Order: sequence, then C-alpha cells, then structure tokens
Amino acid sequence: MPAYSNSSLGTFEECPLKYRFAYVDRIRIPEEGIEAFLGSRFHEVMEKLYRELPYKKNTLDELLKYFDALWDKEFHEDVTIVNPDKTAEDYKKLGRKFIEDYYSHYDPFDKSRVLGLERRFSVDLDGTGRYLIKGVIDRLAQAPDGTYEIHDYKTSSSLPEQKKMGEDRQLALYQIGVESMWNDVRAVRLVWHFVAFDKELTSERTPDELERVRADVKRLIDEIESRPPDGYEPRESALCDWCGFWATCPLKKHLAKVEGLPPNEYLKEEGVKLVNKYAALDAEKKKLKGQIESIEAEMDEIKDAAIAYSEREGAKVLKGSGHLLKISDKQQISSPGKGSKERAELEKIMREAGVWDDVAGLDPYAVARAVNEKKWDAALVERVIPFLTVEKKYTVTLSEIKEEER
Ligand code: SF4
Repeated sequence: MPAYSNSSLGTFEECPLKYRFAYVDRIRIPEEGIEAFLGSRFHEVMEKLYRELPYKKNTLDELLKYFDALWDKEFHEDVTIVNPDKTAEDYKKLGRKFIEDYYSHYDPFDKSRVLGLERRFSVDLDGTGRYLIKGVIDRLAQAPDGTYEIHDYKTSSSLPEQKKMGEDRQLALYQIGVESMWNDVRAVRLVWHFVAFDKELTSERTPDELERVRADVKRLIDEIESRPPDGYEPRESALCDWCGFWATCPLKKHLAKVEGLPPNEYLKEEGVKLVNKYAALDAEKKKLKGQIESIEAEMDEIKDAAIAYSEREGAKVLKGSGHLLKISDKQQISSPGKGSKERAELEKIMREAGVWDDVAGLDPYAVARAVNEKKWDAALVERVIPFLTVEKKYTVTLSEIKEEER
C-alpha cells in the first residue's frame, strides 16, 4: 500500500485527475509556482536558523544574505508567476520581510527546545498496514512543561480564521504521527506561523477529534483506492491556475497548446479555426433568432387585426394578392385551474353525481362533450355550468392561391 501525505490527499480532493497525474502516473513537471518557490526558500532559512542555534545564533543580516543567495541559486526559468502585476523581485522582497518579521518576533528563539527539523515520519492509522500516512514536520519542539509543539510555516497571502485551524487535517495527522513516536507524548500543541501577517495560530486536539480525523482519512483512502485507472475525473476550479498539468489535462491541453503561438499561427490552428467558425455561426443564429422573434410578434398583431376584421365583416376567408387567410373559431370550455377552491367544489359535485369518471379528471374536451351531448340531466348541467369558462378560440391559416384560382 502506498503511504499518503496530507498534500496527496488534498490533491485528490482538489482534483482527482491532478492526483492521478502527480501520484499514480508520477508525471514530473518543471514548472513551479512562485509562491511555492518562496515557501521553500523561507523554510530553508528557518531550518538553518534552528539547526545552527545550539552552536550559534545567526544574525538577521546573515539569514537575509543566506536567503538572497538561495533565491539566486535556485531560481529557474520555469518559476511561474500567475499574478500579472507582480515580479519575481516583488516576491523576493516579500520573503525578506517575512524573515525580518519572524526574527524580531521570536528572537532569541529559546521558548522551546528543538527536537527535529524537517522531521520525517510515517504512521499506520489502524495497525492493518492499509492506511499509511507520511509527513514532514517543519519544526518539532518541546516546551519547558513537556508539551510537544508541531510548528508549521505558512507563507500564504491569506490568513484563515481560528475555527479553520481547529479543523485543519495536516497538523492533526502530524500529531497522530508524533504520538506514535514516543511514549511520553501527553500534550501536543499545533502551531502555525502565518509569516505574511506575523501571526501565530495554535490549536489543541482531543482524542475524539483525532479519532474523527483518522476515520475521515481512512474513508478518503478507501475512495482513492477504489478508483479504476480511468476513474479520476478532472475537477475544474480556480486552483487550475496553479496546476502544472495543463499540457496533459483534457480541459486545458488545447489552451496550453495554443497559448504561446504567434497570432498568424494561432489563427491557422485547426482547433482554433473550428471554435471561431462555430462561434461565428452561433452569433449569426442568435441574430436570426432575434429577427424571427420580432417577425412573429408582428405576425401576431396582424393576426389579431385580421380576426377583428373577420368579425366585423362576417368574412371567414380574406383574400390577398397571392394568398388566402382563413379564420376559423370554436368554443372552448375550460375548467377551474388545478388546486383552486372552485375545482375542488366542481369535483365534489361530479363525484356525488357519479359522473366523475365521464370527464377523466376534468379534461376540457370530456367536459365539453358531456355538456354538449346532453349526457347529463339538466339539473346537473345547471350546477356545473357556473364553474366553466367558455372562450372563443381562433385559428388563422395562410394558404397560397393556386395559379388557376387567381
Ligand atoms: S488543470 Fe484543473 S482540471 Fe486539469 S488536472 Fe489541473 S486541477 Fe485538474
């Protein structure tokens, strides 16, 4: 069974297809978002700070120089910047600011004893070997009162609410991992450093809460493992902008393919041509639809005028230059609308008179037939008639005058 990390589980929840690309097909992508690049450099600086602490305390200046050197050494052309208003230099400055704020907040860095840096662990959630979780703890420490502390650095540009940290799965899994490492783990504090805000958020979990995390993660692993190879569907979201699998994702591969084409090649590409043709026809169709609607509205007005003329003149057929317009009418009986009080009353009368089945649920034709054909006795018809509405319905038919009839 593979070991799952919180990040692989999160990727599956975000988009099953992205999970398949990254963790089943193991497609490696050269691109790296600038946010992830900045996060890695910040983590490396923190590692240096705490790793060397027992021997020497790095000054802020030394750490900033180290950060600059790391940034310049590691930066590569596939670092992507989604925000068009920002440059790599902006992010570098941001990273320096994170370090300055962190340094002045925690100097002299002696509130707890470091037990591990970038500490790897793996834990079997229920001892069956089926649900293995692995992780890397940014900094594991122990406070003077014996409380274990799991520190995690976050360089994201949004600050979550405290409630969200109380539900965070990542550090809860890390706590389960730490509890499996030593026998004296009685109290654990989960600590997030949101360095963009110089804020520290903490959370403590009860055994019941950890049990729920265990159960939820086991369910999720079962779901992942039940997927057939073609069962990882793409799930499009705002996070696609940060996904590096556009070249393989069916929802994005054509966008990725034509993105960098010069305008003359772009317009010649077969897919682009098909979309443009389809869009042009769709626009034409919408235009024609609008024209048809306005023609139909005008025809309705003329129809009404022809009906009025026909009534006035007593003429049922009107003759034009090459066409005839035939106007016919018939009486239409309608029953009260469904759910109305009148309908319930009418139904009661008919049921009591034993004729309900004759009218098939108040079908207007059946009612008209029963009344017109005098199937019921006069007293019943008299009781029923006030509930019925009689309307004259017109039909207007256009026909061509044959040559020989002109
Ligand atoms: S681009 Fe979006 S839909 Fe496609 S794999 Fe990436 S996250 Fe999933």
